[in-house]
Amino acid sequence: DAAQLVQMLFSLGEMVTATESVNDATLELLGEELNYVVQVVSPEDEDRELLESFDIEFGEDEGDESEWQVRPPVVTVMGHVDHGKTKLLDALRNANVVAGEAGGITQHIGAYQVATEVDGSERKITFIDTPGHEAFTAMRARGSQSSDIAVLVVAADDGVMPQTVEALNHAKAAGVPIVVAVNKIDKPEADPTKVRGQLTEYGLVPEEYGGDTMFVDVSAKSGLNLEGLLEAIVLTADASLDLRANPNQDAQGLVIEAHLDRGRGPVATILVQRGTLRVGDSIVAGPAYGRVRAMLDEYGNELDEATPSRPAMVLGLSAVPGAGQNFIVVEDDRMARQIAEKRESRERAAMQAKRRVRRTLEDFMASMEKGESQELNLILKGDVSGSVEALEDALAKIDVGSDEVTIRVIDRGVGAITETNVDLAAASDAIIIGFNVRPQGKATEMAEREGVEIRYYTVIYQAIEEIEAALKGMLKPEY
Ligand code: GDP
Repeated sequence: DAAQLVQMLFSLGEMVTATESVNDATLELLGEELNYVVQVVSPEDEDRELLESFDIEFGEDEGDESEWQVRPPVVTVMGHVDHGKTKLLDALRNANVVAGEAGGITQHIGAYQVATEVDGSERKITFIDTPGHEAFTAMRARGSQSSDIAVLVVAADDGVMPQTVEALNHAKAAGVPIVVAVNKIDKPEADPTKVRGQLTEYGLVPEEYGGDTMFVDVSAKSGLNLEGLLEAIVLTADASLDLRANPNQDAQGLVIEAHLDRGRGPVATILVQRGTLRVGDSIVAGPAYGRVRAMLDEYGNELDEATPSRPAMVLGLSAVPGAGQNFIVVEDDRMARQIAEKRESRERAAMQAKRRVRRTLEDFMASMEKGESQELNLILKGDVSGSVEALEDALAKIDVGSDEVTIRVIDRGVGAITETNVDLAAASDAIIIGFNVRPQGKATEMAEREGVEIRYYTVIYQAIEEIEAALKGMLKPEY
C-alpha cells in the first residue's frame, strides 16, 4: 500500500508523500526493489504498439517510389503576439492568387489551400489556419509533425520579441525550414533592415546577406507582396525539402481541429499526409471512428477524395477527436471501432491518473518540511465582501515565526466558486478557500479533474486555525 511504498522510497533515500509524483528513475529503482522491471512507455509508443497489433504502421510512405507524387508544402504561421499572424492568414485566404474561386474561401475549417504561380506553373500551398504555435506545439508533443515550413511573422515596427525567438526555436527543434515574413511594412516606423539584423543573431541569415533564409517584406493589412511570400515558400520547399507522397495507399494524417456541430454531429478537419482519403472509407481518428460520410473543402464544396497535403472537413465520426491526434484508414468498421475503443479506455485511464491531487494543505506541509515550498497560494471566496476582507486580514496577521514562509492571496471575490477560480488555482498551484459559499456549475467536477483542493468553512477562525497549523506545525527547523 501507499504507506509501504513511501517507507520503501524513504529507505532508498527518497523523501516523498503518498500523493506525490516521482520521476522515471525513481520508479525504476522502486521496481527493482520489488523485483519488477519498470518500463516507462510514452503514450505515442503505446499507440504505436496498439496499431502494430492490428498490423498497421503510422507514418512513412510505402510502395513503389515511381508512384510517389509531388505534394504541396504544409505551412504554419508563427510569431509574437500582435505581429499579424491572424491578419496574414486572413489575407492569404482571401488572396487565392491563381485559382480565385468565386467569392473566395468561405469556411473556416482550420486549414486551407491556396494556389500561386511560380515560374509559369501552378503550385499549391496548404496553410494550417490556427495562428500561434499552440497547435504546432500540441502536435509536436504528440510526436506528430504537422508542418513542412514555418512562416515566422515579425512586425517591422516592433522587431524581434520573446515569442519570435520561442517560435523560431520550436521550428528549429522540429527541423522545419523558416521563411520570415517581415510584416506591417506599410507603417512609417517600419524598419525591415533592423529585423534582418536581429534575426541574423539567431542564426537566420537573409539570402541577400549570403545566408539561406528568405525574408519577405509584406503588409497583411494592405495585402502588399503576398505573392512574394507564397513564392518564397515554394522556393524554400523546392530548395530544402523532398515533398512527395504516395497517393496509392490507405490514407493517414492528422486531425487539425474538431468540434461537435449541432446538425452534422462530430466534424473534424483533417490533413491527409499520405495516401488518398475517400468518401466511404472506414477511419479511426484518435478515439473516434466511423465511415467518411462526406468531405468538404474550405469552399464548402463536396470532395470525393483528398490527396496528400489536402485539408478536408470530415463528417461521419462517432466522437470529436483532439487536435493533433492521428487518423488512419483501416480495413473495415469493426477494426476502426476496436482501435477506437482501446484508445478511449486508455485516454480515460490517463485522465484518471491525472486526477491526482495537485496540492492539498497536507501536501504543502509535507513539501515545506522538505524545504521545497515557501509560498502558499490561496484564492478566497466569500458570501459577502466583509467576510472576504476579514479573512484576508486575519490571514495577513498570521505570524508563522519565519520569513521563509509566506501566504499569498492571489485572488479574492464575493460569490460562488466558479470554474474560472478553479482554472486559476490549477495554473498557480493554489488552494481555494470557500467561506459560506458553494461551488457553481461544473466547478467541483473541474477541481476534481484538475486536482485542486477546495476547503469550505463557515467560521473564520476555523479557517485561520487550520492554515496557521499547516504553516506552523511543519516549519523547517531552524538551526
Ligand atoms: P496576431 O496576434 O499575431 O494574430 O496579430 P493580429 O493578426 O491579430 O494583428 C495584430 C494587430 O496588428 C491588428 O490590429 C492588425 O490589424 C494589425 N496588423 C496586422 N498586420 C498588419 C499590417 O501589415 N500593417 C498594419 N498597419 N497593421 C497590421
